[in-house]
Amino acid sequence: MLSSARFIGWSFRQNLGRYARYSYSTVAKPQPNPDIYHNQVFINNEWHDAVSGKTFPTVNPSTGDIICHVAEGDKADVDIAVNAAKEAFRFGSPWRTMDASNRGELLNRLADLIERDRDYLASLETLDNGKPFHIAHAADLDLTIKCYRYYAGWADKNHGKTIPVNGDYLSFTRHEPVGVCGQIIPWNFPLLMQAWKLGPALAMGNVVVMKLAEQTPLTGLYIAGLCKEAGFPPGVVNMIPGYGPTAGAAIALHNDVDKVGFTGSTEIGKIIQKAAGDSNLKRVTLELGGKSPLIVMNDADLDYAVEQSHFALFFNQGQCCTAASRTYVEDGIYDEFVERTIKRAEKRTIGDPFDSNNEQGPQVDKEQMDKILDLIDSGKSEGATLAAGGNRYGDKGYFVEPTVFTDVKENMRIAKEEIFGPVMQVMKFSDKDELVERANDSMYGLAASIFTKDLDKAMMFSQSLRAGTVWVNCYDVFQAAAPFGGYKMSGTGRELGEYGLENYTEVKTVTIKIPQKNS
Ligand code: NAP
Repeated sequence: MLSSARFIGWSFRQNLGRYARYSYSTVAKPQPNPDIYHNQVFINNEWHDAVSGKTFPTVNPSTGDIICHVAEGDKADVDIAVNAAKEAFRFGSPWRTMDASNRGELLNRLADLIERDRDYLASLETLDNGKPFHIAHAADLDLTIKCYRYYAGWADKNHGKTIPVNGDYLSFTRHEPVGVCGQIIPWNFPLLMQAWKLGPALAMGNVVVMKLAEQTPLTGLYIAGLCKEAGFPPGVVNMIPGYGPTAGAAIALHNDVDKVGFTGSTEIGKIIQKAAGDSNLKRVTLELGGKSPLIVMNDADLDYAVEQSHFALFFNQGQCCTAASRTYVEDGIYDEFVERTIKRAEKRTIGDPFDSNNEQGPQVDKEQMDKILDLIDSGKSEGATLAAGGNRYGDKGYFVEPTVFTDVKENMRIAKEEIFGPVMQVMKFSDKDELVERANDSMYGLAASIFTKDLDKAMMFSQSLRAGTVWVNCYDVFQAAAPFGGYKMSGTGRELGEYGLENYTEVKTVTIKIPQKNS
């Protein structure tokens, strides 16, 4: 048996102390009305209007008010950005001939600038995305800075090997950049998803054309300005705000884009993969959706499991690819777990994300809120028990009440579809072998978790669950050094860690004939 206090201590401090609610008032200064410095397309280290001259509004989800209008990049802008990136990647260019350790220095300088502007960036993220400021400041910014620093360290360390071959030859491998990388990111963790993509791509000497999510373009554009300030040469980082079917599709279909890295829904991931096949067979990595199971055994520390399973689902307004939206509870503790879980959800504080007393802000936009409310309706009509919440919260902005369903069955929509909102599904189990089947019965395989004090059970589940990440007695513990990605339709490839470099590396074999005698 494991000692639960020792086993869970680290995770508890990291997750709850850092993410859920912590005292930041002495270090973090929210700016509820941050100035907007950038709202244009960023190409060649310069700001431009979109070629079409079009703009689109970006909205504060707490109020529904327009924050500002942003240049609407499309295929014409992507074409210009790809040409700029190709020029920056030209053989012999300053970027291609830069000492690898200097690329690392640039990434570290970028991390320094993000630290300098941390209060501002967290405020801008809160304004545009709706996530509570204290969480943006602690979690998103912390992980973003660490990600850039982590990959800064790799810039001069991802190198090839010397291979023993037939004595007349010497073979060695070179780890080279892939080239022009198209990157498309979602709105749920704009700064972090950007860092997961820019960090390894730039460390390996690639050039980037990135499309930001239309709901949350502002922090990504600000980071583009910081890349210039840090000293990245023109054309290395290009940033296109715009819509998926236009700007995003232009990247995925572009014949001069060597690789596309996509994070978003499984539905759009399929389109990206097809576009790569329909164009130049560019390399594709996909980080997609999930419907992750969280398992609570009879022997788990109940208070802790209730708090962690609450955090695992409700963190970031439920807008996490890893959201633990299938909570399986063993029959011996099911009733007690449900009672405490309902109480915890009812206690969850919701409202103005700049108020440090609030754990939950609005959903990112009206479309997401309506989709969540529709899924809640389906849960009710398909026979699940609505135990908490279930409605829109207030009449301004896009808030949804923390919602808990019990008596959920696997064939219900709420048990199968990614809800991407603050809606928890609790299910009972008694047979562990059957549970493995139930937990794996999903098209997704992103994350999973098990709460138990029994090492045998922890090991059995961590091996049998078909998911890219399994957390034991913890949840959403992300570290730049630990790889992350999905099985099945949750994606292909891994981000973060050393594995994440593979997406941005071509391996070249060089073989040299060696004369066997002095001539
Ligand atoms: P989404 O609708 O798939 O959009 C993701 C990005 O793709 C956006 O920038 C979007 O542009 C763009 N896009 C849309 N249609 C496109 C097309 N035809 N061609 C090229 N690009 C296109 O996903 P989302 O709603 O932003 O994000 C939520 C999803 O992301 C969830 O499924 C979540 O699980 C997943 N996610 C996964 C991970 C992971 O690491 N596995 C991490 C975070 C999120 P628009 O701005 O126009 O929508």
